[in-house]
Amino acid sequence: MRLTVIGTGYLGAVHAVCMADIGHDVLGVDVDAEKIKALAEGRAPFYEPGFDDLLTRALASGRLRFTTNLRDAAAHGEVHFLCVGTPQRKDGGAADLHHVDAVVDGLAPHLTARCLVVGKSTVPVGTTSRLTDRIAGLVPTGVRAEVAWNPEFLREGFAIEDTLRPDRLVVGVTSPNADATLRSLYAPILAAGVPYISTDPNTAELVKVAANSFLATKISFINAMAEVCDAAGADVVTLAEAIGHDTRIGRRFLRAGLGFGGGCLPKDIRAFAARAHELGVGPAVAFLLQVDEINQRQRTRTVALARRMVGGTLTGRRVAVLGATFKPNSDDVRDSPALAVASSLHQEGADVRVHDPVGAKNARLAHPQLHCGSDLLAACQGADIVLHLTEWDQYGEVDPAELARVVDEPLLIDARNALPHDEWRAAGWTVRALGRPTPS
Ligand code: NAD
Repeated sequence: MRLTVIGTGYLGAVHAVCMADIGHDVLGVDVDAEKIKALAEGRAPFYEPGFDDLLTRALASGRLRFTTNLRDAAAHGEVHFLCVGTPQRKDGGAADLHHVDAVVDGLAPHLTARCLVVGKSTVPVGTTSRLTDRIAGLVPTGVRAEVAWNPEFLREGFAIEDTLRPDRLVVGVTSPNADATLRSLYAPILAAGVPYISTDPNTAELVKVAANSFLATKISFINAMAEVCDAAGADVVTLAEAIGHDTRIGRRFLRAGLGFGGGCLPKDIRAFAARAHELGVGPAVAFLLQVDEINQRQRTRTVALARRMVGGTLTGRRVAVLGATFKPNSDDVRDSPALAVASSLHQEGADVRVHDPVGAKNARLAHPQLHCGSDLLAACQGADIVLHLTEWDQYGEVDPAELARVVDEPLLIDARNALPHDEWRAAGWTVRALGRPTPS
């Protein structure tokens, strides 16, 4: 099938290479000429495991090309995927849909044949219906463009696997024809037995924000328990393990720590709360505002713990921060909890050295005031305290005895509850973590 993928960021670029990989003829489109040039030359504009190989293979197959021109897209696609960003509006929690609208406005007047426009971006419920009206007013006479929504659930760090072998595919359609087109487009993926849920667009749009709201709530729930554990002298790791054995609860997403960030969960729950308010059901999801607040509080709790551990003031203290990205196996620093903490420490007068294996460049662009690099020992040299803020595998492999020789004070905050605390303590470190009692 001839597909276009409009918006070639983390979501769109991965979708484009994966669609080419399963046999479609794909044209990737973006307004960012540099990104398009890099992709066309086989250079990944971001770090994502497995992406580079798939990009090289897709380009070599001749089934993947890139352009900045929406006219070319209009002429190419039987199906147009919308993958542009839907960031948080500057004036509140709602989603900013101007990129989505700009694509529709730029594409629709150039369409010449019947086609399907399929949104993958995360949008407020009602967007498909609004775009259907918008497109109808812009397409040339006689041309029919149907809109469907096919929300994306991929996780950065596992994006290729999640696209080619997703837990489920959800499509929101208004006609059997659109449903048949999407079933046929995804046939190679569905052949492995992936569940396919076909529903109306409103439900499909809601599925995505409901899933993210549930995950965010699970994380903030365990972080709320961590706060209670701190006050009561209890251990949140044991608590999480014990409740997680209950299959109704499950063990995943119950690791207490610094909380969630990134380009999706925080803005998605705020946008959902804002949309629910518009629909007159704000109170039904008001708890999401508290989920957000609990999440933000873990950042201030981590800074407060660091301040206490270095003796009451961070001014002039050398702090090593391990991790800059919002999660491991990604170079994405959007709304990164690690960088939020690093930034607060810097504001309190600390001399902060951030280490990240792949995210240092993006971290420097986002926070030019911070020292960010990819040499771990250099970041820790002379440190008064070390903060583990993003759980990259390599931090789990650090030799705590070797690191103890480099720092000034062997003080560690494991804000991800992911390091082997006993080993670090045996090597002379004082280790603290959110929701864990201090050993006597
Ligand atoms: P991103 O910022 O990495 O990519 C968006 C891309 O759209 C950019 O390359 C930008 O240049 C391009 N763009 C903006 N306006 C355009 C226009 N008018 N025409 C063509 N291209 C345009 O964002 P992302 O992380 O890929 O997220 C995109 C959407 O997917 C968001 O709604 C997000 O919530 C959703 N989503 C993201 C993920 C993820 O893990 N990143 C997962 C699921 C859903």
